[in-house]
Amino acid sequence: MIELKTTEDISRLRQSSLLVGKTLAEVARHIKPGIQTKDLDLIAEEFIRSNGALPAFKGYGGFPATLCISVNDEVVHGFPSKRVLKDGDIVSVDCGTILDGFYGDSAYTFAVGEISEEVQNLLTRTKESLYLGIEKAVAGNRLGDIGYAIQTYTESFGYGVVRDLVGHGIGKRLHEKPEVPNYGKRGTGMILQEGMVICIEPMINLGKKSIVQEADGWTIRTSDRKPSAHFEHEIAIGKDKADILSSFEEIEKVLNKN
Ligand code: MG
Ligand code: MG
Repeated sequence: MIELKTTEDISRLRQSSLLVGKTLAEVARHIKPGIQTKDLDLIAEEFIRSNGALPAFKGYGGFPATLCISVNDEVVHGFPSKRVLKDGDIVSVDCGTILDGFYGDSAYTFAVGEISEEVQNLLTRTKESLYLGIEKAVAGNRLGDIGYAIQTYTESFGYGVVRDLVGHGIGKRLHEKPEVPNYGKRGTGMILQEGMVICIEPMINLGKKSIVQEADGWTIRTSDRKPSAHFEHEIAIGKDKADILSSFEEIEKVLNKN
């Protein structure tokens, strides 16, 4: 069964999700060549705690950090480390918060310094595909409509859509039903209902769709070692239009200043 959220629940989930966006904006200020990814993690943890929330990923299933930081060919679930970001890298930063018991979860992929046009296009189109998926997240549509929108758009550029990892329901737990794949067939799958809250999070590879897990037991990377992009919003299914609970606005204010 899918747990439907009340208006009150949704407003709390929005508060938590907005804090994720602000945290990612704080991180964005520090993303530049020369910074170690573990320093970004510290900035995020301090910011979340100083706002009265908890880092949702820290300790989740044994994950050791506040942020998942995945560089270049790493798709998701990378560890913050002493790795130094360098000009031309891309870095996916995925962040979760628990505020008053409600989970926020959102991710953004950043360019470090100057990146190639080919990789910039991957970032732009992956983010566009997220919004195309969100457009389908309205009551009466089906889950497959979301995945179909993301898949057809990104595959039209020859990109690989990761199959093994998917979006998810969210609420008072980080991962709830349903699973939200970034691929699918139109008109198939569960019927979407008002009050469902889900995370849509396309993971799109410049090359092939296949992935492998690193020996650390967490980090997922592309099997062909080509870069991968990841953008995520937390949204509530609406009657005529999805309600996007997280926000990239603060992040993009920072990026546009640079
Ligand atoms: Mg996430
Ligand atoms: Mg998620």
